[in-house]
Amino acid sequence: MAQFTQPSDIARETLRQLAMRRTPPTPDNYRSIYHEIAETVAAEDFPEKSLKSLAAALPRKSQEQMRFARQFDAAIAGKNWDGMRSALADIVGKSAGEPLAWSALIRDLVTQLETRHVELTTARKREALDHVLASSGTPDTLYGRLQSLLRAWSQGTASDQVMALADGAPMSEAAPAAVPLAPTFSAAPADESRHLGSELRDLIAQLLEDAIGVLLVDTPDLSDESHQLAAAVRAARSAEDIAAFTVKMKKFSYRLHFIAEDQAELKSALLHLLQLIIENISELVIDDQWLQGQILVVTDIVSQPLNLRRLDDVERRLKEVIVKQGTLKRHLNDARDRLKAMLATFVDRLASFSDETGGYHDKIEACARKISNANDIGDLSDVLDEVMRETRVIQLSAQRSRDELTEMRQRVKEADGEIARLQGDLDTASDVMRHDTLTGALNRKGMDDAIEKEVGRARRHGSTLCMALLDIDNFKKLNDTLGHDAGDAALVHLAKVVGETIRPQDTLARYGGEEFVILLPDTPLEDGVTAMVRVQRELTRRFFLHKNDKVLITFSCGVAEMGADEAPMAALKRADQSMYLAKRSGKNRVLAG
Ligand code: GH3
Ligand code: MG
Ligand code: MG
Repeated sequence: MAQFTQPSDIARETLRQLAMRRTPPTPDNYRSIYHEIAETVAAEDFPEKSLKSLAAALPRKSQEQMRFARQFDAAIAGKNWDGMRSALADIVGKSAGEPLAWSALIRDLVTQLETRHVELTTARKREALDHVLASSGTPDTLYGRLQSLLRAWSQGTASDQVMALADGAPMSEAAPAAVPLAPTFSAAPADESRHLGSELRDLIAQLLEDAIGVLLVDTPDLSDESHQLAAAVRAARSAEDIAAFTVKMKKFSYRLHFIAEDQAELKSALLHLLQLIIENISELVIDDQWLQGQILVVTDIVSQPLNLRRLDDVERRLKEVIVKQGTLKRHLNDARDRLKAMLATFVDRLASFSDETGGYHDKIEACARKISNANDIGDLSDVLDEVMRETRVIQLSAQRSRDELTEMRQRVKEADGEIARLQGDLDTASDVMRHDTLTGALNRKGMDDAIEKEVGRARRHGSTLCMALLDIDNFKKLNDTLGHDAGDAALVHLAKVVGETIRPQDTLARYGGEEFVILLPDTPLEDGVTAMVRVQRELTRRFFLHKNDKVLITFSCGVAEMGADEAPMAALKRADQSMYLAKRSGKNRVLAG
């Protein structure tokens, strides 16, 4: 029941409200507030024209649709909001399963036309509605535009933006598509669009709590705000609640934007720091194969965009290498310790032997003195016995020492051999880091080393060196249709075919995802192209088999011969440019750079 019944009271209260709300005292505003206070609808406010064009857009195919349209027309003719409401409630009840909820949309439009908006006068709303209804398009596009318009109204969007929406422009930030519609109409019964609204509301709340809240662990005040916003959107029922939530959400997004920027900077700073540490460690421990192998893996990770699958893969490889290298290193240290112990024993033996021989010499000297002082043969016989005894003792000791030393020399030789073998294994384990684990071809690091070696060789001998770069054609499609594992198997197949087709002195390296580099020493440009065409033909002969289906893999390739004074990477870049040209001119071809 209206609080004011007398027109003069209503007029006075209207003026007071205009001043209080700081609303400009235009005739439209005055009229709208007047009717709000009087709880009436102005006859001149009835949007007859707009509603008629809206009614004209209603489908009239089925019996049900015809009946609804007739009811709707009659309500418009009689300027009868109640008639319109009951017609809508009727059709909503019956058309819950229809793909486009026209009736719900129209009812919401009518409600919004009636609802007072501070920034949108009824005249402006009507103008926007006319504009949308006059725009051409299918019923589906009209439906979408009306929905956008409704959304814009419910958020009080300025009229120029409303016009833009009517023209089919995408929603701007001020009117995000994800803002639910239903909470703006609190009193009406539940229908499909309302249900969707509550679902969206829950989704936004969940997003704020679970995803954004978790991302903001380092900024507790923002994390709290995110939870408060979640609670606010869950509790939002009226248009005012939604408007207040939208304002807060805009501020929150603004701050979030800065946090996101900070986090991106932080990540790149951390990566730089990691790179700096790695580079410096590798400078300091240049001879330590053990650490070098691990540094190569980590360098490889930070030189490419981070991705979880890759990080997992690299972590697994690094662990394998650490375990393998750790075991080898332990064996190597054991063997070294044993060798040291043996050498120590050897030195002891030598010392005791020389002690024993030193004693023998003393004794022989004493015997010699006794001989020169001997007076009869009996004395001499005693001395001779003594000499014989001492000589036998020293002979036995020498024999024993010789046997021991021979055995020890054998053991030292064995330990030395074991150390050499373990050192070799350790080098191989570290060398694994130069190969791509999937295809077995050289990886980027291995390729860099191979280029350095081949370029050095070509410069020394004045020979030619070709570099070819191939990129598989439409590989993304293969992955998408056959799956990532099949994609992996295709890469292995290609590397196998290429490896078996090129000469033994040629080198195959995986340059990146589905790109490979082939180094062709002692090869002029023309022969390089021929070699790659041969690989291409071989690949059309040897199909890649996926679940017994033959899959043809083709590639585009660029070949460049390294110039006498050219930097190796410049030649590779030329090969890359030719490969790109090969792609642009239809793929599955080899072009010289
Ligand atoms: P184009 O003919 O122009 O070269 O097209 P493309 O689809 O081959 O090239 P694009 O660069 O669009 O896609 C390359 C794809 O290769 C995308 C990526 O997912 C896939 N890829 C890269 N590395 C691997 C890998 O190790 N295994 C698998 N299965 N796919 C990979
Ligand atoms: Mg590519
Ligand atoms: Mg490709």
